Formats: sequence, C-alpha cells, structure tokens
Amino acid sequence: MKGAIFIPQVLKECRRCSLNKICVKNVREGVPYEIKDVRKKSHECPATGSIMRIVEVVPAPIKALVFSKHAIKGAVINYTPIYCTTRCPYKKLCAPPGLRPGDKVRIVEILGRSYRCIENKELTPVLLLLLL
Ligand SMILES: [Zn+2]
Repeated sequence: MKGAIFIPQVLKECRRCSLNKICVKNVREGVPYEIKDVRKKSHECPATGSIMRIVEVVPAPIKALVFSKHAIKGAVINYTPIYCTTRCPYKKLCAPPGLRPGDKVRIVEILGRSYRCIENKELTPVLLLLLL
C-alpha cells in the first residue's frame, strides 16, 4: 500500500534465494521504509510462500537519541550510537537496530528537550533520516 511503512526482515533463506537481488539486497534490515509506489509485478516468496509485490521505497525517519550538541534540525551528521553500559530503558533509541556507526543521517525533527540520562549524558530525542 502506498504510504505504508515497513521494516524489512532478512531470513536465513534469503541469502540463497534467486529473488535476493530484487528483494532484501536493496534494503537494510531494521530500517523503516515508506512505500512510494506499488508496481504491478509480483513474485511468490520461496521462503514464506506469500505473494510479494515490487514496490519503490524510500527510508522513513527513525526515532533516536543523539547527543544534544548534535541535535540541530536540518544538520547532516555521521551517526554515532549511544553506547550504554548500564541497564538503559531507552536502549532502542540509543542504538536503533537499523542504524550503524558512521551512517550519514539528517536530523529532520527535534522531538523533545535535552535531558540527562542515567549515565549522565546529555541527550535529545530526534527523528533521523538515513541518507544512503
Ligand atoms: Zn541508553
């Protein structure tokens, strides 16, 4: 569906699948993608047996925490995950599964105020767009 967001999951069967090149090879696991267009062509997925449509996608923004000094709307930064050493309740935001260290990301939105986390880091919740 146009406008829908999905997060690709790569199964172990995908590696040897003949559709790999037009399927999971073009997307990154864990990154949310927005469907821009749905093509007529469909394939049956050998791993799940479900019918897959060919779609055009763009990465959708990812909610994350960044160091407050980097939290400038519109800025393009090299992404650095927040490495937490204690039981951080925000682990998913400190190091979102789809982002890797060094990724170029644009800060598209500041979601809240800067605060000090339990490890005494000054962090700000933002929306990041992965620039591939
Ligand atoms: Zn954390």
